[in-house]
Amino acid sequence: MARGKKIYEGKAKILFEGPEPGTIVQYFKDDATAFNAEKKDVIDGKGVLNNRLSEYFMVGLNQIGVPTHFLKRLNMREQLVRSCEIIPLEVIVRNFAAGSMSKRLGIEEGTQLPRPIVEYCYKDDALGDPLVTEEHIAAFGWATQQDMDDILGLALRVNDYLSGVMYGVGIKLIDFKIEIGRVYEGDFQRLVVADEISPDSCRLWDIETGQKLDKDVFRRDLGSLTDAYAEVARRLGVMPKNSGPSKPTLVN
Ligand code: UDP
Repeated sequence: MARGKKIYEGKAKILFEGPEPGTIVQYFKDDATAFNAEKKDVIDGKGVLNNRLSEYFMVGLNQIGVPTHFLKRLNMREQLVRSCEIIPLEVIVRNFAAGSMSKRLGIEEGTQLPRPIVEYCYKDDALGDPLVTEEHIAAFGWATQQDMDDILGLALRVNDYLSGVMYGVGIKLIDFKIEIGRVYEGDFQRLVVADEISPDSCRLWDIETGQKLDKDVFRRDLGSLTDAYAEVARRLGVMPKNSGPSKPTLVN
């Protein structure tokens, strides 16, 4: 499809103007970065898998009444989304300790937390996305108290949905990050889940073996990242190969 003007290029995606006002085309690149882009590589096929997986999760969320910016997938690498004003926070939900939380608090990776813990980081690459509290968020006007109540509600609903979907295919949802956007409808505004939900922004461990099926495979050099993401897609039944014309099946 004919793309509009490039609006923004991030580490893993490019945003283009969409065909209608208020829409954006999100293009998923194969670029992988970690440690605030100190480690970089191009991983063939990652963008195609993340486009599919993010579509799968966003459609599922929409179906259970959790609003997202997702409208439809356009092709292998692009999806149409509603344009929204991104709140400059990374909203992280943790069910088991891992990554920066394990380091910060000295809790062994994989330890189950007493309840899901929600953390906020201020989105600023130059600062390395520092952890902030609701006090900072309110004082600096990044979001109102009402927004924060809504964001917490959305984050916990996404956590319940994703944990359940993953549990159903033998995967433990350790933690994940979402971004929240503001959508304006006349005089009203509402908050929606935006950006992407994919193994780039989640920690996913096989329940039986503990095998990592997420971006830690890249961060920690644990093998093929596309094999890991393809395994998640295969278990969920969203392998890209299912999208093409299906082969004739012999019927008895
Ligand atoms: N995360 C992310 N983008 C970021 C930071 C974190 O998607 O810029 C995700 C990460 O993949 C993990 C969760 O948020 O699923 C918690 O990450 P953590 O704070 O442990 O940071 P990390 O160890 O990845 O630096």
